Amino acid sequence: MRFPFKTFMIMLAVTALIFIWILIGSASKNIARKQSNPLADQLAGPINLQVWFQSYDEDYFLGALPKNTIVSYGDLGGNMGITQRLEGVYHITIDIEFNKAARVSQMTVLHEMCHEAQWGNDGLDVHGPKFQTCMHRLAAAGAFDLLW
Ligand SMILES: [Zn+2]
Repeated sequence: MRFPFKTFMIMLAVTALIFIWILIGSASKNIARKQSNPLADQLAGPINLQVWFQSYDEDYFLGALPKNTIVSYGDLGGNMGITQRLEGVYHITIDIEFNKAARVSQMTVLHEMCHEAQWGNDGLDVHGPKFQTCMHRLAAAGAFDLLW
């Protein structure tokens, strides 16, 4: 059986249109991928916060921080993070607005972990000498190497 020339041309045109449609679809996906912000792609979540806490505790605090420490996001209205001790349990809260990028969250978690490790040691000056020593020790140990 032989296709008439007209049918052949219509089939060729349809095939070309489908091919162009696939190319445009693939190109627009690539453009969308290139425009996405890599930091926004790795937005931190509450599970990450707890995982980071455990891993930093093992890597930089000899596993000495209380295992029942709760690390979560919250709306602190102006603070990067806070550490509180409520009924004997430490709560680290990371501000959701100021810590949208994962690496910022990680730095804030490390900062708050120094508060936890130095709890009560610096008296009213929460960023006093013992806290500073803790932060310098973390920096010297490379805790911030991939973050800053
Ligand atoms: Zn602080």
